[in-house]
Amino acid sequence: MLDVGFFRRWMTATAASVDREAQRLTDLDSPIGDADHGSNLQRGFNSVRATLEKEAPATPGAVLVLAGRQLISTVGGASGPLYGSLLRKTGKELGDAAEVTQEQLAQALRAGVDAVMALGGASPGDKTMIDALVPAVDALSESFAAAKAAADEGAVATTPLQARKGRASYLGERSIGHQDPGATSSALLIGALVEAAG
Ligand code: ADP
Ligand code: MG
Ligand code: MG
Repeated sequence: MLDVGFFRRWMTATAASVDREAQRLTDLDSPIGDADHGSNLQRGFNSVRATLEKEAPATPGAVLVLAGRQLISTVGGASGPLYGSLLRKTGKELGDAAEVTQEQLAQALRAGVDAVMALGGASPGDKTMIDALVPAVDALSESFAAAKAAADEGAVATTPLQARKGRASYLGERSIGHQDPGATSSALLIGALVEAAG
């Protein structure tokens, strides 16, 4: 079972991973965006980490709802509201249970990813965070490690795609040949599940 400690570790491991990879995320956002994805998420997840320490939410759902709210209020870019909706919706789906199963997390995260698609209008293959999140959710019932591998693979597979959503879509065919920054950060979020479990 996954308790509130697991969900706190998931968020703090994501914050640490975003800190480590911030420069790379910003570099990926340079040729097909505005070179701020690393700094956007660093600001957001640092604020999540600080707020979790201050407020100590009591349930898995409350951790994710709080994290989502912080991302929405601190990240300026497109990714803030999208990641915010992902975590908020996932948290709401978990309700007020003190512990959840891995399968319940997989189902809740699927609802969260659906909320991101509804908000941003992206589908798989549009070269966005969705291309890492959808395969990750599909693999999550199997194991956290399988979800991480699927997310990493999904992020790499955005390289040959032409962007159809977000800033990168303004470039048309010139967006081809670059890995999507948001898919890359989504793979960090999913990878942090492995760290939280370990
Ligand atoms: P901004 O583009 O506003 O500067 P960020 O650089 O923080 O925001 O985030 C860019 C990332 O957000 C993209 O790489 C992409 O993965 C994701 N993204 C942008 N628009 C959408 C959308 N409509 N649906 C899903 N993901 C999106
Ligand atoms: Mg950007
Ligand atoms: Mg921006």
